[in-house]
Formats: sequence, structure tokens, C-alpha cells
Amino acid sequence: MRKVSALAASLVILCGFAAAQEQDFSKVQIKVTKVAGSVYMLEGADAGNIGASVGDDGIVIVDDQYAPLAEKIQAALKGITDKPVRFIINTHYHGDHTGGNGYFQKQAPIIAQDNVRKRLESGGPAGNGGSVHFDDKPQPKEALPIITFDHDVTIHLNGEDIRALYFPAGHTDGDSIIFFPKSNVVHMGDDFVTYGFPFIDVEAGGSINGMIDGVEKVIAQVPADVKIIPGHGPVSNLDDVRAYLKMLKETRDVVQTAIHQGKTLDQMKQSKMLDPWKKYSGDFINEDAFLETIYYSLTGQKNGKFIKHN
Ligand SMILES: [Zn+2]
Repeated sequence: MRKVSALAASLVILCGFAAAQEQDFSKVQIKVTKVAGSVYMLEGADAGNIGASVGDDGIVIVDDQYAPLAEKIQAALKGITDKPVRFIINTHYHGDHTGGNGYFQKQAPIIAQDNVRKRLESGGPAGNGGSVHFDDKPQPKEALPIITFDHDVTIHLNGEDIRALYFPAGHTDGDSIIFFPKSNVVHMGDDFVTYGFPFIDVEAGGSINGMIDGVEKVIAQVPADVKIIPGHGPVSNLDDVRAYLKMLKETRDVVQTAIHQGKTLDQMKQSKMLDPWKKYSGDFINEDAFLETIYYSLTGQKNGKFIKHN
């Protein structure tokens, strides 16, 4: 990992390639895109995409980026409708998706899977088990989701059955994917990103196999023309998700085979075994970092120590 500035580090930026970059939030503008039906996407800093269901009943938002952007996000929502925010859903606990919780929970309740609240409350280690590592601070009470669920929850507003469905042990151990069936849109959180090799928070219960399993299940249950909001990146379609899934499975398989052959992580790095997928190599998760991710995920190790999963 690159050196982070005190400012960036204090913001606990986790999921995106912006992880190690200082951001000047005063210059950030919120871009609003209509996705389909009653669903919009809001983009601001290099942080998690915000989904918004907007209709007669008000607004349901999915994720809320960083606290310093909360007022701008609010203003962007006002540009779509005067109706109030009714609920906020967190797809997972990372700070670039939950940073606005304290601000928005003054207006409406936050809903998330049980493990999101646990991790926000306790803080703790996050990372790929190897060179990518963060320590999260416990978050204040006002930022904790006040409604939590185990498996799924549905919000019946705006003529839509907005469903948050839990997918275990993918990007983290508390990921929900959010379905807007009437508008034919899905917000995949960080189980699907377009910035390259994904960050998998192996130290917070994420795993390569869980991510693959979750993505496969989503593909199996949505219409072919569904619009996909990724955790990071532009609005995508099912072909984009299929290509991403193919990369996840192929890279997982070559690492699994090498583990069976008794190769060490260092040997795998030296052989550049992920080179065929190097177009996915990014600033945040490069080939070596993704190799570590898969290796530690499949072996249950963290720098040689066993990782305790929930
Ligand atoms: Zn994340």
C-alpha cells in the first residue's frame, strides 16, 4: 500500500482505488444519473455509488458516501424531488459507503445486515490478509443502523418492493445486494465493481468463493436486460457482470491449482500467474494484491496466521 496522508487515513476509505489518495471534498460535484424506472444513481468522490428510489412516497437511498459530502448529496436529491428521505440502506460497513450515516439518520432510519452494525460499532481490522490492511475505528451511535436483519428485508415504497438480500462472505461478511424489481435495477454493492480486481475484505469475513457464489446467484435471478449499479463505476449490464464473474472464477481456479501443487505464495508471485488477467490490475488492487487476496481467502491464512471468520 502507498503511504496515506493523515487526512485520508482518518476518513477510513476502504473499497475504492482512491483508498490512498487525499481527496478535496470541497471541489466534488455530485452527478445524478437516471438508471431506469424510478431509480437514480449518484456519484461524487471516488466512493461507493449511491442508488436512490424516488417516487410519491419519498426517497430510499442505498449507501451514503462520506460525511463531508452529505449536504451535497442532500442537495442533489432535492434536485430530483422535494419528498423526504424515508430509509437508508447500507450495502456493507466500509466508510466510503456509510460515511454519511450520522447525517442521514437524523432524517430517516438506516437499515443493514446484522454484521454491518456489529463492524461499525466495534471497529477492527480490514484488509486482504496481506499487504492491504486498514484498522477501522468504532463509529458513534448515531452512525449505526438502527434496523438490522439477518437474511433479507423488503421496503414497500414508491410502488416498488425494494429488497435487500444478504449474501454471506463475499466482499465482507455483511453484504447486501439491493433489488428494485419494478424498475429492473440491482445495486450490487462492492460484490461487483468496475475498477479492476476487486478488494475483498478477507479480514472482515469476505472471501473469493462467497463473492463468486453471490454474483452467480444474482445473475441467475435477474432479467437479461437488468441495469446494474456497481459498488464503484458506471451503470453496467449483465454482460459486464458475467465477464467479471469469469475473471473471478478463472483467477480463483489457477490459484487453487497452485495451492494443491504445494506452491508458496512467493512462488506464485514470482511466476506472475495472474498476468493473463493483467488488464484488471489497478492502483489499489494490483496482481500481487489480488493473488494475496485469493491465496489467503482459500487457505484461511493471514500472513501465515489463521483468520477467524464469524
Ligand atoms: Zn467496500
